[in-house]
Amino acid sequence: MTDTTPSVPPPLTAGLDRLFPTLTSAQIARIAARGDARKVQRGEVLVEVGENPRFLVVIAGNIEIVRPARETEEVVAVCGPGQFTGEVNMLSGRRGFLRIRASTSGEVIAVERERLLALVQADSELSDILMRAFILRRVELIARGIGDAVLLGSSHSSGTLRIKEFLTRNGHPYSYLDLDRDADVQDLLDHFHIAVADIPVMICRGELVLRNPSNQQIADCLGFNEAIDQTQIRDLVIVGAGPAGLAAAVYGASEGLDVLVLESDSPGGQAGSSSKIENYLGFPTGISGQDLAGRAYTQAQKFSAQVMIAKDARRLACDRKPYAIEMDGGQRVPARTVIIATGALYRRLSLDNVAQFEGAGVYYGATFVESQLCCDEEVIVVGGGNSAGQAAVFLAQTSKCVHMLVRSEGLAASMSRYLIRRIEENPAINLRTCTEIVALEGSEHLECVQWRDKRTGKTETRNIRHIFVMTGAVPNTAWLGGCLSLDAKGFIKTGMDLSRDDLMTAHWPLTRSPHHLETSLPGVFAVGDVRSGNVKRVASAVGEGSIAVASIHQVLRE
Ligand SMILES: Cc1cc2nc3c(=O)[nH]c(=O)nc-3n(C[C@H](O)[C@H](O)[C@H](O)COP(=O)(O)OP(=O)(O)OC[C@H]3O[C@@H](n4cnc5c(N)ncnc54)[C@H](O)[C@@H]3O)c2cc1C
Repeated sequence: MTDTTPSVPPPLTAGLDRLFPTLTSAQIARIAARGDARKVQRGEVLVEVGENPRFLVVIAGNIEIVRPARETEEVVAVCGPGQFTGEVNMLSGRRGFLRIRASTSGEVIAVERERLLALVQADSELSDILMRAFILRRVELIARGIGDAVLLGSSHSSGTLRIKEFLTRNGHPYSYLDLDRDADVQDLLDHFHIAVADIPVMICRGELVLRNPSNQQIADCLGFNEAIDQTQIRDLVIVGAGPAGLAAAVYGASEGLDVLVLESDSPGGQAGSSSKIENYLGFPTGISGQDLAGRAYTQAQKFSAQVMIAKDARRLACDRKPYAIEMDGGQRVPARTVIIATGALYRRLSLDNVAQFEGAGVYYGATFVESQLCCDEEVIVVGGGNSAGQAAVFLAQTSKCVHMLVRSEGLAASMSRYLIRRIEENPAINLRTCTEIVALEGSEHLECVQWRDKRTGKTETRNIRHIFVMTGAVPNTAWLGGCLSLDAKGFIKTGMDLSRDDLMTAHWPLTRSPHHLETSLPGVFAVGDVRSGNVKRVASAVGEGSIAVASIHQVLRE
């Protein structure tokens, strides 16, 4: 995300033929079969800001995509004959933030969203053209900060970082104004009667002013979940949109199941906080977790899976059929089958005042957003696993020096060989074994860190303002109550791991045994990091998410 003022983004120019391809007459004919042709008059508004998306192909004349602003409006793009409107919200069904208007009289074909999704699933040639244009347009909107959200924040505020991450990981375009750097911000503050103490503030859709909003308030204001019917009984409800949940969504929806995903934060899970995943099949040069998650999210939506964002599953109602998932706010989503893909939560440093610095010097992910906060500064990475190794190598590119702190005597037992080699060969990384952090100091932001060498007992204090904690994770299963059999560490037991005793205690009601990834409750499956015995990798999470869907079909037939 660029830091850009919201008023005058530059016009769309780069790669216009890929952003705005011209369809052939044969392609237009296939679209016309699913839509309605109609004449339009010059100046007629075809889709207003905030309306549900509608796909339009221009047959004659021109239509313009306009960004309304407070004082003036700006034409973002113009579509001529053979060109079409739409971007990623066409798949999600979210409200649009641009106005579409006929700039000359002419004719268009209008296609409703559901019919467009059916077309994209059936016609691979059109799917390629449309999906590529939708995704590139969204990327362009993000790069230019053209959206319906303006964030006013400060790089010293943890709330600002949280909101930036939430919008970025949801692929939502926004403009960012930094109080510490943008002199013009005061005007905006005055206009909306905002005091500096209210920061971070989000101006949503040009009107609503949200002071330090929660992720859920942001999702509500931007209409992330509006288009989703929460009362409908789904074939499959997936809890968690990390790699495992997204894989299950793609396979389930592409095989015709009616799929709803609930995600308490943003799509991507732990993988979304990885700077570069290099061991996932098919990406020889690596891919950032965010890119991987973004692609999977769009892919799931293409097949009509629906994803609710910032919706925490609080309880599994397992004493009734269909099952139901209770969310924060009290709503219940009924489900014939359930896949639990809630992954794991990062372990925190066990220091009393750590919460004070989370997001203001202590971070649990090392993506581009965090790396920008500590350019040319010394940083600490805590942990000896692959995620810590990746973070150290990534941060070493932009920071002055990375101190890598591990409690054990070396990395060999916990890290892949290729990462150990990169760490050893990188002069910017300083590996400190048998070392742990014992104190943090600072006021609004972390300022100073003390660590201790466990062998000598000697402590050292450094003026370091950034710590990346990568020390493993605990399963997200507390919300399940007593519904499922868990192992001693709280991971969900499935398939052959469920003993006769487990099944008796759970009152397993069927004559058949549980399927491979099925829990002690028939029709409820667990996949990915949350599952007992799972190999904690992106590939295994994706594999399990897709395998579970095969068993879901069998259960739905029972
Ligand atoms: C920094 C980092 C780097 C990594 N790098 C690699 C790598 O290079 N290669 C590799 O193979 N693996 C890597 N891993 C491990 C990999 O990311 C995980 O194994 C993988 O993400 C597990 O996927 P998952 O879907 O099972 O769970 P998660 O990724 O943990 O996703 C779970 C999702 O469920 C959501 N959720 C939790 N509770 C609820 C609830 N109650 N209601 C609704 N939603 C909920 C969470 O918000 C989250 O989005 C890395 C991990 C980290 C942290």
